[in-house]
Amino acid sequence: MSRGLARNPPVNWVWAQGEDIVCDHCGGRTQLLPNPPEKLINIAGEFTKAHSKCSRQSAPPPFKSWSNPLDWVVGDDVSISARTIWAVAMGAKPAEHDPPEDPSDFGRCYRLLSSFPEWRARLVDVAAQYPAWRPFVAVWDEMTISYEEEVLADGNRRAPKLYNLLRRLRYAKAPAVSRKAPTATLV
Ligand SMILES: [Zn+2]
Repeated sequence: MSRGLARNPPVNWVWAQGEDIVCDHCGGRTQLLPNPPEKLINIAGEFTKAHSKCSRQSAPPPFKSWSNPLDWVVGDDVSISARTIWAVAMGAKPAEHDPPEDPSDFGRCYRLLSSFPEWRARLVDVAAQYPAWRPFVAVWDEMTISYEEEVLADGNRRAPKLYNLLRRLRYAKAPAVSRKAPTATLV
């Protein structure tokens, strides 16, 4: 979808992120979803046109730092993966506990750990409780470096290197994890 939006002329710093369309150069964003497809194309087209001449800002916008974990969890930077780290660190049981899916998802984990750096050491506990996390935790530093290089330094939120790494990890033959409750065995 993001590629289609950037067609003719190529405005490859405008792309779809979650339910929004965003401009990597100025940080502008507008909501795409929920909208009928024809309206969506108009919004995307107008946004792309409006941002087709945006020049890149030198520094990425600084992100919010949290001092109270309780504020974070009711805040606006939460995802399933970041909340999983939060839950393990806080001794709670999350209903969902998927590892980060894409660079923006990883960014939420990154920002959480920037606010509470002592929780970096708790990732081993996340992996111990949720085996799907094991391959991710094993290369967390590598993902962190990619994120810092691609997203924070270069301002490229698509972060292709990190994206590919996350995909590989997701489809890596990790130990099978059942998301369902174990079925009772009839004897
Ligand atoms: Zn812009």
